[in-house]
Amino acid sequence: MTESTNIGERLRSLVNTVQRNERALQRFQQIELRLIEAEDFAAFLGILTGELAQVFDLCAATLWLDDGARLAAELHAAVAQSAPASGQLRWGRTAGLELSATAPQLGLVGAFSAEVRAALLGSTPESASAAILPLRHRSGLLGYLSLVSESNERFVEGMATDLLARFAGFVSAGLVNVAQREQLKHLGMTDSLTGLPNRRYVEMRLEEELQRAARHAVSVACLFMDLDHFKKVNDTHGHAVGDRVLAAVGACIRAAVRLGETVARFGGEEFVAVLQGDCANANVVAERVRRAVEALVVRDNDGGEVPVTLSIGVAVMPGTTADKGAAARALIEAADGALYRAKRSGRNRVVFAENHEDEIAAAAPSDEADAQR
Ligand code: GH3
Ligand code: MG
Ligand code: MG
Repeated sequence: MTESTNIGERLRSLVNTVQRNERALQRFQQIELRLIEAEDFAAFLGILTGELAQVFDLCAATLWLDDGARLAAELHAAVAQSAPASGQLRWGRTAGLELSATAPQLGLVGAFSAEVRAALLGSTPESASAAILPLRHRSGLLGYLSLVSESNERFVEGMATDLLARFAGFVSAGLVNVAQREQLKHLGMTDSLTGLPNRRYVEMRLEEELQRAARHAVSVACLFMDLDHFKKVNDTHGHAVGDRVLAAVGACIRAAVRLGETVARFGGEEFVAVLQGDCANANVVAERVRRAVEALVVRDNDGGEVPVTLSIGVAVMPGTTADKGAAARALIEAADGALYRAKRSGRNRVVFAENHEDEIAAAAPSDEADAQR
């Protein structure tokens, strides 16, 4: 009897914990979605410290960044430019903090050292317990995110920290992503109409990709894309509508290509994507892009639909470490040559550089296979 009551209680408490975790996970995911959408570092910071504190009912959330970390300079520059009105961002050096660089630490605010309290926990009288999450990228520590609660039972030493550790991983990746984006802006490598990186960036990136591909013994594919009869769009609907089409097409291509792969506005109405992988993979992605743009609905000022299609030239080469600059130029040129043939043979199509045609004929997946992706 007693034993079954015990089991019943244990079960109930287990179910409660599972439900609590499930709710917490959902709230974390809500914040994560918002972080992915953050336009720039200022927005990212606002979500991380403002919305997070609100959603989790915290008295403060503070981002503390290591001055010496890689990318710190880009974030410094971003802060200087956008001047986020937030006391929730602090800078410092990890030396002297004596915090774990790998695992979340939980406990009463008073149990942390005076240095940690001063750097990360603030000194509001209502601060009772805190969690400090290390933010790491590759092998290095970027900084910490601290969460402070009014309740001394909220963050207790010895509590399970899986969800917090998972969230910290996400925040770290987001932080690196937003820092890189800020860096591109800073270096003048972003196109302002589409928000995509520009030609200078993609040329530089292609060389890096060729080198990386050489290390992993894989190929690099270049997709050269050009809008069909775009001059007519401008002539018929005006330049402003043309600009709107360019921005919509840029976003459409970006969404159709994996996030880690580069999509850039090469110039005027030309876009370039750099992918890792062979001809068959490039063919699948190129066809996905072509179809997505064909299905895109852009409206003119009277609400009429502006038809948009593009042609894609594709070239693929194995990675290389020798003269990457020349290899990158040759790859772009080959893709551009294939694009020219795509235009000549009727537009709104994908054409491969001549030396790949046999490969593609042998490996081309059927439309149904692609449709299932
Ligand atoms: P094709 O199918 O052969 O590529 O024909 P097309 O009309 O697209 O090619 P063409 O090279 O003749 O015209 C490209 C046009 O793109 C001309 C130029 O005015 C327009 N364009 C280039 N950059 C921009 C821009 O930033 N905004 C707008 N609205 N138009 C642009
Ligand atoms: Mg063109
Ligand atoms: Mg064109």
